[in-house]
Amino acid sequence: MKYDAVVIGAGFSGLYMLQRLREAGFSARVYEAGDGVGGVWYWNRYPGARCDSESIYYNYTFSEELLQEWTWSSRYPEQPEILRYLNFVADKFDLRRDIQFETRVTAAHYDEENQQWLIYLEDGSQVSATYFISGVGCLSAANIPKFKGLDQFEGKWYHTGHWPQHEKVDFTGKRVGVIGNGSSGVQSIPVIAQEAEHLTVFQRTPQYTIPARNHPYDPAFIKQTKENYQQIVEEMRNSWAGFPIKPSSRSAIEDSQEVRQQVYEEAWEKGGFFLTYTYNDLTMHEESNETVSEFIRSKIRETVNKPDVAEKLLPSYYFGTKRPILDTHYYETYNRENVTLIDVNKAPIVEITPKGLRTTDAEYELDILVFATGYDGMTGPLLKIDIRGKDGLTLKEKWAEGAHVQTYLGIANAGFPNFFMITGPESPSVLANMPLAIEQHVDWIGDCLEHLRDRGVPTIEATLEAETAWSKHCREVADATLYPKADSWYTGANISGKPRSFLIYLGGFGVYRHICDDVAAKGYEGFSLASSPKTVS
Ligand code: NAP
Repeated sequence: MKYDAVVIGAGFSGLYMLQRLREAGFSARVYEAGDGVGGVWYWNRYPGARCDSESIYYNYTFSEELLQEWTWSSRYPEQPEILRYLNFVADKFDLRRDIQFETRVTAAHYDEENQQWLIYLEDGSQVSATYFISGVGCLSAANIPKFKGLDQFEGKWYHTGHWPQHEKVDFTGKRVGVIGNGSSGVQSIPVIAQEAEHLTVFQRTPQYTIPARNHPYDPAFIKQTKENYQQIVEEMRNSWAGFPIKPSSRSAIEDSQEVRQQVYEEAWEKGGFFLTYTYNDLTMHEESNETVSEFIRSKIRETVNKPDVAEKLLPSYYFGTKRPILDTHYYETYNRENVTLIDVNKAPIVEITPKGLRTTDAEYELDILVFATGYDGMTGPLLKIDIRGKDGLTLKEKWAEGAHVQTYLGIANAGFPNFFMITGPESPSVLANMPLAIEQHVDWIGDCLEHLRDRGVPTIEATLEAETAWSKHCREVADATLYPKADSWYTGANISGKPRSFLIYLGGFGVYRHICDDVAAKGYEGFSLASSPKTVS
């Protein structure tokens, strides 16, 4: 079977890509490993999973009708509601008929002679497509640390990103262990604590988290938002992170201690990510960063009753340089009698035993173990697929070749014609409002394919020069900030053996959008548009 385009994944990316391709008259097939749409919102069903972008902005904006028809219940809705939204979208645009579920793409090889991609599926079948588009997401390759003895564990264990789809995990009366306290751990820990007989949290690095202060939406607010959506969307598209929030023009150290304290207190009371917007240099300068980092540490000391537990929860990295986290009663959870916090930085995990988990200090008996240990971010999901470009070069080899992974605009790769990544490495997406960032990539790719078709151009490929320049620019922008200093999935430091590299464009979503538009307006500057595999214009 031959399609114009094959897309992997039926999450936010794959669904809109399919819609965009169809609207432009291309034939397309989406392959999805799960048995339903939703992507991360299909897989992440752990207790407490919810959105941490405000829902009124965390949706598609391409259809005014869709914006008007869907109404979010609250500021940060739980996973089932977001999954319902994506199912609503799939139904509204009749997307399912072009999606093949429970089908994993194992390999995609570029057939240079016939200028097409050969796509191999897990069931052994194969299809071909002119364009190969990845919508695999940035956080879909689970990181399950290789602890000795996991296969001997007599209890049950789960990773937050692969939570059982059709059964409830019952923690009642159980001794539960959670390893990890990133966004997934921080969301699940307070909920599991309410149900479990006892919860032991194994923490390696303390994290800063901010109260989400979730609340149901006032119908008047929803009405006003819907009436003004087009203006809001315009603001989102031109902003740094894809939200209609005006950035501060002040440095944190321009204000006196008293004024700063008041600014931080107000943002803390509002909840959500407002704290990150209080000053313009929090992730740029150590001195400014220390003011907000210390503010959050003071809140932890205030909230946690036992000083020794509070001490263990105090983070020391620069706030904001790991992905900021929103919580609902996270620090308060450590005041519960049935919750114990173990510092595995001090006493590392040695092994999983049949009865539980052993650190260098003690053994903890557990019935259920939850890995909230995150993901091999950005490159991980792509490298799980055997992707081969020209001359049989694999993506793995290409990205291992230089000192750094490099891409052009986070969308394309030299050596891989007609292959597009939605929210790939070196795009700003993971620091932006994800659905909006996805829409921008999908629209750009859709426009590009129409451009090629209208001009009879069979292939497009990023040039090595453009790719190298983009990658260098990304690193220069990042190096002017504090971000690369943190050990996180942003830098690859969370995966043992992964080369350290900061793979996010930090120039801002609005700026990036203009750069991409400019590239297109200049006839796809930095790309080779070829009329045959060997001819480069
Ligand atoms: P994460 O932020 O990478 O956190 C993983 C946690 O596991 C960290 O606490 C880490 O400790 C710990 N860990 C990893 N390996 C370990 C080991 N061998 N021993 C002990 N501890 C270990 O992962 P995540 O919480 O799943 O979040 C990943 C990203 O997904 C987030 O940053 C966010 O972008 C996204 N997310 C979003 C939402 C949402 O609300 N929209 C919800 C969940 C996730 P160290 O810090 O020491 O490495």
